[in-house]
Amino acid sequence: MKTTPIIGLEVHVELETKSKMFCGCPANHFGKKPNTQTCPVCLGLPGALPVPNNKAIESCIKIGLALNCSVNRLSKFDRKQYFYPDLTKGYQISQYDQPFCSDGSVLLDSGKKIGIERVHLEEDTGKLQHTELNGERVTLIDFNRGGVPLVEIVSRPDMESSAEAKEYLKKIHEIIRVLGVSNADMEKGQMRLEPTINLNIGGKYTPIVEIKNINSFNYASQAIEYEIKRQVEEFEKTGVEKSTTNKTTRGYDPIKKVTFLQRAKEEAKDYRYFPEPDIPPFIIEEDLVEKLRLEIPLLPEQAIENLVSLGVEKKDAKILISNQNRVAIERLKSLADDPEVNLKKMASLIVNGKLSTTGDVKAEYLSLTKVGTTDRGELEKVIREIMASNPALVDQYRQGKVNLAGFFVGQAMKATHGSANPQTLTKLITELL
Ligand SMILES: [Zn+2]
Repeated sequence: MKTTPIIGLEVHVELETKSKMFCGCPANHFGKKPNTQTCPVCLGLPGALPVPNNKAIESCIKIGLALNCSVNRLSKFDRKQYFYPDLTKGYQISQYDQPFCSDGSVLLDSGKKIGIERVHLEEDTGKLQHTELNGERVTLIDFNRGGVPLVEIVSRPDMESSAEAKEYLKKIHEIIRVLGVSNADMEKGQMRLEPTINLNIGGKYTPIVEIKNINSFNYASQAIEYEIKRQVEEFEKTGVEKSTTNKTTRGYDPIKKVTFLQRAKEEAKDYRYFPEPDIPPFIIEEDLVEKLRLEIPLLPEQAIENLVSLGVEKKDAKILISNQNRVAIERLKSLADDPEVNLKKMASLIVNGKLSTTGDVKAEYLSLTKVGTTDRGELEKVIREIMASNPALVDQYRQGKVNLAGFFVGQAMKATHGSANPQTLTKLITELL
């Protein structure tokens, strides 16, 4: 029977704003002394009023635009109620039915489009720390992270393999970093991944499983593969199909490389969402959207295409862009029209670590590739050698077979490893012949 995995991804990204989502406390909480960056608002004390962080809203919209979403003209925050120790208010301010952005997509290298359902903004929760204190097992809570702006990117379940999921995640990560809205450092928990998986086995669907809080692309990929195998076995054993009540939440143990059951999933209605009464709805003007659209830097796909159009090989362009080697990219662009530089060769030398971009790149490139067109004497020497080893062809040329010039140009290009300018070469060869 044909088995097709159905994979969706929820990605949480902590924004790097100066202050938190609804108060003036610093948003940068990493490595700070516990509970030193809190106030009545982010601690959820009675009577404290949230004031939305405009910068965070703009960053959220930029992410949406970069993911080809439409920006909703009308948007609002909602209260998502649940009780958990890391959430002081008893509810999280999130977005329910009117997120800032919806209906986008990410294009995989294969040309397959992965749909984005929504991009919304919410506040992060505090952090629990399970530890031992005076011989007793305790759980400590640090609220420095509580209230930090958090963007959630929800894909449609369009992926069919762990490889597709991994590629999608890498593209999201790259886009977030290029936008400069977050470093998306997964070791610091700035980007957290939650795959949703079930299977279509010959037209029958297995129950949906959501895997919580994964912090690496490899773990996400391993968890998905494990879950595919587990669901096949489970279905063969029990034959249980997906229903509205059997969605579950699992964790991933990267050491044992297995997923494990955490809890039966709360359905949306359990959260009793309602509009946040302390924050009026937003009207997002087209002017603001256009302003933000212009602020978006060149995204990876475009940047790669631009380099390729200048003559750089796609594999080299991809490496330069994914390493964010801005200096190299700028140098290459500035030398695009230089007749003495073969951009394809230069990019390849840079990618392979043979050409440094710190000093005078062009001078170093010319000395590396030895024969530059500046050195007319050197070129003449090369051409005379080729002529000397092909006397018959030289004669034929002189008797009128002028299209043989192409052969000499080709040989000279080869001898100079493509560093010479073909026009200069042709001119010189015609003269010498
Ligand atoms: Zn605060």
